[in-house]
Amino acid sequence: MSAELRVNLDRLRANVRAVRERMAPAEVLVVIKDDAYGQGVEPIVGAALDAGARWFGGIDVDSAVRAKSVAGDRARVFCWMTVSDDEARAAIAAGLELGVGDAAYLEQVAAIGGPATVHLKIDTGLRRNGVRPERWRAFCARAAEHERAGRIRVAGIWSHIAEASDADDDVSRALFDAAVTVARGEGLSPEIRHLAASAAAWHRPEFRYEMVRIGAFCYGVRSADGPDIPGTAPISSLVAKAISIGEDVEISLGAVDGYPSALAGRAHAATPGGARPVVRVDPFSSRIEAWPGAAVGDEVILFGDGGHGEPTPTDLAELIDTVGEEPLLRVSPLVSRVYTP
Ligand SMILES: *Cc1c(COP(=O)(O)O)cnc(C)c1O
Repeated sequence: MSAELRVNLDRLRANVRAVRERMAPAEVLVVIKDDAYGQGVEPIVGAALDAGARWFGGIDVDSAVRAKSVAGDRARVFCWMTVSDDEARAAIAAGLELGVGDAAYLEQVAAIGGPATVHLKIDTGLRRNGVRPERWRAFCARAAEHERAGRIRVAGIWSHIAEASDADDDVSRALFDAAVTVARGEGLSPEIRHLAASAAAWHRPEFRYEMVRIGAFCYGVRSADGPDIPGTAPISSLVAKAISIGEDVEISLGAVDGYPSALAGRAHAATPGGARPVVRVDPFSSRIEAWPGAAVGDEVILFGDGGHGEPTPTDLAELIDTVGEEPLLRVSPLVSRVYTP
């Protein structure tokens, strides 16, 4: 009796439609990094295509290649991690577009050729990856040289922002606009600018440009301490089964392999007898407070869309000061993913 992550693909379609409607005329890149946040790239991409998605993107080449093989010519796929030569070669051969935020990586990608379709990344303050503003002009000049020689095609300029404060994001946006002007001045003509992820894109139209990269809201994960997003709801529920009934109810191993142990004593779960506290979380024995008539095989919903009184992923995240993606990402690969079409 194992736990399941139940993924509602129709809910995903509805979320993607709501997000696309809100962002129009900007295009929506559906973020599918880390195996679509642990929910499975292939079914997620298939359903998002039904809902009109025409762009996907991920950090890791693996998720992006898998997305491209589902989407084929129906969508463009962007992959933004700086990767080894072999991986970059495979990514280009698979038809992916690459994020390039580093001068050495630009040379590496140009040497592979193709031409490789690239999106150049300016660091607008996050300092994770991206070319610093003082090096940007030379970087663009070099990219333009490679483009003229047919080794690359610069399709986009992009950056990532903190989305922690509007003021900081405004500073980033000004740096971004300046970087685009410099790039054009150096002879580049990127057709797509993309800066914002879920929160900034949803709330601040001026951050949308030609495209936004949306992960969380497509999966119904609202921002921690943020409002509900109209038209969206969590697509996945983590469901465990009661395996023994004692003073508490022990739930199946696996569901909790990844469920943050810090949630014990803080979170509740939905049971057939209503909401009950999560008493204990450890790899070999996790327990929920008993409910009247509890029986082996009863289902316990650890997170979901709230429809049975369970917390959402973001509700859990808020209890332990993290983001709503984390409960999803932590679900063990041993937990089977079950899809409702
Ligand atoms: C994960 C990620 C996103 C999506 O962020 P959400 O807040 O989940 O929408 C967008 N851009 C980059 C670069 C990312 O790594």
